Amino acid sequence: MPELPEVETVCRGLNQLTLGRKIEGGEVLLSRTLAHPLSVTEFNDKITGSSIQLWTRRGKYLLARLQPTGWLGVHLRMTGQLLWLEADKPLSVHTRLRIFFTDGQELRFIDTRTFGKVWLVQDDPFIVMGGLQNLGPEPFGEDFSPQYFLQQCGKSRRPIKTLLLDQRVVAGIGNIYADEALFKGGIRPETLSCELPPPAVEKLRLQIQEVLQQAIAAGGTTFSDFLQVTGVNGNYGGIAWVYGRRGQPCRVCGTTIERVKLGGRSSHFCPQCQRKTSGRI
Ligand SMILES: [Zn+2]
Repeated sequence: MPELPEVETVCRGLNQLTLGRKIEGGEVLLSRTLAHPLSVTEFNDKITGSSIQLWTRRGKYLLARLQPTGWLGVHLRMTGQLLWLEADKPLSVHTRLRIFFTDGQELRFIDTRTFGKVWLVQDDPFIVMGGLQNLGPEPFGEDFSPQYFLQQCGKSRRPIKTLLLDQRVVAGIGNIYADEALFKGGIRPETLSCELPPPAVEKLRLQIQEVLQQAIAAGGTTFSDFLQVTGVNGNYGGIAWVYGRRGQPCRVCGTTIERVKLGGRSSHFCPQCQRKTSGRI
């Protein structure tokens, strides 16, 4: 599932490839991909003649400011991918939505599991797009301060892993980077948030920023005419400390990496490097 670094990488790629290009039309192949109550025809009518001014990312949402008016929003969810290609390229059966540009190029939304969403809105997306209003601070934003994170942890009896996945607490973190940051922080995923001592909370906050930054740096280098998000198999997967490594030796101490289920999600950890009590400082 794409998380903040993957979405940020896609956002940067879209800014390199699509800005200022005029949209010639749209085609919705699966109507429920459209999140806003627009009909397929309305979507095509409204997007035709627009051009993309700028892409931004908020949490795991992609937002494009359109000229002359409106916004295009995309959430990739579990398996969504955006491809930038020539419009005459063969269609995958999982193609859900297409946006055509005047120079024969196309932005194609492909989504196997069909949880992904595309919005086309005229008003402020932070008001009209469900989910955006409730997002917590960006991990690199000033709002994600030591005081803020300490307060959020202090008042929660949920496992810290569960807290990190809550987009209302901090935006953009998913299963991969939560596991990685907890490893780097020396904290067991099931530790109750309120039982973490303040130094462990601050260490975790800094590790969240570091693992996300490293993943962005690994991903955002090359863009051609082909743009793709591969989520789990993306740039960070190959160098993960614990994520997806159950049964393999810890890269630090050699202990076998274990996996537990928390809130229905798999959590990977090293039983030696991540102590059962509060975080190792
Ligand atoms: Zn270890």
